[in-house]
Amino acid sequence: MKRIAIEEHCLTDYFLEYLEGRKEYPKLESVVDEEGQRRWRWWDSAGEFTYWLPEFVVNRYSEIGDSRLQYMDEAGVDIQVLSFNYNIDRLNAADALALTRKVNEKMAEAIKKYPDRFVGFTAVAPKDPKASADELERTVKQLGFKGTMILPHVNGEFIDNKKYWPIFERAAKLDVPVYIHPMFPPPERLQPYLEYPDLSGAMWGFGAEAGLAVMRLICSGIFDEYPNLTIILGHLGEAIPFWMWRLDNSMIKAVAHVPKGRRESKDPADIPLVNKLKRLPSEYFRDNFYVTTSGMMWQPALLCSELAIGADRILFAADYPFESSKEMVDFIESSAISEHDKEKVFHLNAERLLKL
Ligand SMILES: [Zn+2]
Repeated sequence: MKRIAIEEHCLTDYFLEYLEGRKEYPKLESVVDEEGQRRWRWWDSAGEFTYWLPEFVVNRYSEIGDSRLQYMDEAGVDIQVLSFNYNIDRLNAADALALTRKVNEKMAEAIKKYPDRFVGFTAVAPKDPKASADELERTVKQLGFKGTMILPHVNGEFIDNKKYWPIFERAAKLDVPVYIHPMFPPPERLQPYLEYPDLSGAMWGFGAEAGLAVMRLICSGIFDEYPNLTIILGHLGEAIPFWMWRLDNSMIKAVAHVPKGRRESKDPADIPLVNKLKRLPSEYFRDNFYVTTSGMMWQPALLCSELAIGADRILFAADYPFESSKEMVDFIESSAISEHDKEKVFHLNAERLLKL
């Protein structure tokens, strides 16, 4: 069975060297520990947050070529959809944009060399939304890229802010999806995590940031403005499939809590959300979203997503290089979903969505 993995990251060797060479934040440094193992320390900005990655992960992250292909072969992955998930907006807009262009060129080289193995999601720098939209269009039209990946917030500002809508507008116009990838909370939302730093990442903070960004996007009315806008979410939907009934129910019930006379108010602050949006949250989620299996190898979560949005909306992803692609393949192969649904998850849905 063909397998297309859709949340597979690359940093490129160029970008690694660039970060390592920086004296100021954000930067990257490597340290050899007591066991002789090299570890990479990622500094997002001064005095804030750092995280560590072992050398083998960083090597996999930065390379797009023979080692990656060998890893894919061993795991049974036919195609990786390459994406850039670094918090590039820590840099100034001009540098961020110049770097994402170089990353896109590196990805394009790999895709050209191995057209049957790699597909690209455009790296963008949302701090400059118009330039990001233009870069998306350039890479889709000239290099055959199939969508883009952005983070839930731009230095703390959630992406439903209208200044970022040009990126979504262009994606809708080009009929390509936008993958919203988790990110650490920004400094102003990090405080509740600091006593338990592990909570701020994959354990909780990633999903909390991404889930809130998506709910804000739904509430913003962006899907009424661009009805064919397609969003992809990792980790089987960042918990939203589990919440869908309660999202609708709470939104509907909230109207009854507004005093009579004010429900019909023209003051935007008074208008209940249910009257501002054309549809219910679950309806947008079913029609405008896909979820992927990245980093979530748990049967109850997979079955919940399948029951909530259907197998046509679930895509296979491993989250290379942070999770094992082989374990993710084995997880889907051994899951309780039907053989035909496995075909959908492994490749049919991706082929339809990305027009492969
Ligand atoms: Zn990821």
